[in-house]
Amino acid sequence: MKTFACGDVVPGCSARFTAGDAEGILAQVAGHARDDHGVTEVGPDLVAAVRAHIHPV
Ligand SMILES: [Zn+2]
Repeated sequence: MKTFACGDVVPGCSARFTAGDAEGILAQVAGHARDDHGVTEVGPDLVAAVRAHIHPV
């Protein structure tokens, strides 16, 4: 399993995600970014930032 804390990229955000792999995390983050941060497009820079903070659990 992998986990990601949005607060590692967006200071102050308490959302956490867990999935079987990085792609599962990114899919959840895309929805969260859109719904809670108004980010309509998850570009390469954001994907790289998220991947850098995905940790195994
Ligand atoms: Zn967030």
